[in-house]
Amino acid sequence: MQTKMWRGDCAEDIKAAAECLQAGEVVAFPTETVYGLGANALDEEAAQKIYAAKGRPSDNPLIVHIAEQKQLEGLVSQVPPKARALMAAFWPGPLTLVMPRAEQVPDCITGGLPTVGIRMPDHPAALALLKACGLPLAAPSANTSGKPSPTHAEHVYHDLAGKIAGIIDGGPTAVGLESTVLDVTVEPPVILRPGGVSQEAIEQVIGPVQADTSLRRSEGVPKAPGMKYKHYAPEAAIIICQGTPAEIASQLQMILAQEKRPLGLLISEETRALLDKVPSGAIVRILGRRAQPETLAHDLFDALRWFDEQPVEVIYTEHFPDEQIGAALMNRLNKAAGAASL
Ligand code: AMP
Ligand code: MG
Repeated sequence: MQTKMWRGDCAEDIKAAAECLQAGEVVAFPTETVYGLGANALDEEAAQKIYAAKGRPSDNPLIVHIAEQKQLEGLVSQVPPKARALMAAFWPGPLTLVMPRAEQVPDCITGGLPTVGIRMPDHPAALALLKACGLPLAAPSANTSGKPSPTHAEHVYHDLAGKIAGIIDGGPTAVGLESTVLDVTVEPPVILRPGGVSQEAIEQVIGPVQADTSLRRSEGVPKAPGMKYKHYAPEAAIIICQGTPAEIASQLQMILAQEKRPLGLLISEETRALLDKVPSGAIVRILGRRAQPETLAHDLFDALRWFDEQPVEVIYTEHFPDEQIGAALMNRLNKAAGAASL
């Protein structure tokens, strides 16, 4: 299949992409978090094409994207009061709400769960596409399963060219990490995946919520089934150095003197400033500033993909501050690293 390229700011291109979706095809589109791979959420056959293109395990449910709250009718059987308050505060935005599903939502969207995850993306091209096709769109991240999520249209093209009908190019995505997934069917609500809206921001609106402890227990069954799979992994091994910036810098200085493998450094501006000698063979990517964690989040997936093009066997990185968006950032980096940290 030839994959078409469309422009997110061109009304005719949006119309062409919407027609593909109405015909049961799969289309990648930009959102404020990462690029999504969309198909009609009420058409089982269309949704199956998402799993096929990504190589995604089919027990991993898909998030349904909508443009207007009235589309919730037909997707959920009930909207809990806390969900209403959160929608008013954060939609459109990077918060997915897990609610009781309506019967007509196909099992392949929900992974057979009695719930469905829904969000309203905050991106003009995504909203225009949703309105033009008039459908709720099931859309996971538009990457090959296991790879870092795409934050540029080029990332989507790299992974999925020839496998999907088209890609809408909206430039780099603003947040760079996926949405927060919050289960509002339980009391207190549980964060199944940290993301673009922080726990602190959610708690200001609805009071205390819990982080899903099963995400951290090896024997636990995560309630967001996707979280048990290998994720975000670049080709090289990743090792995370812990401590204050000064401690991280002194560990890195030692590693740079001893490590025999071709290595990369994925570090903050602050940490780079504390290193005095970096051998010319080391490949360095400055991720952003610790003082501005949104800059780190914005470029993480792009940096992990960039390292796949570099001749490195191991990437040393640092434990970044894990408050606010930093919680989501460290969740993704820990997953990319597997168990390897210093
Ligand atoms: P992605 O589509 O790649 O951003 O991943 C979506 C994440 O949301 C996965 O980790 C899913 O397991 C999770 N998710 C989606 N729908 C539900 C649901 N109904 N219940 C629990 N987790 C969900
Ligand atoms: Mg994903």
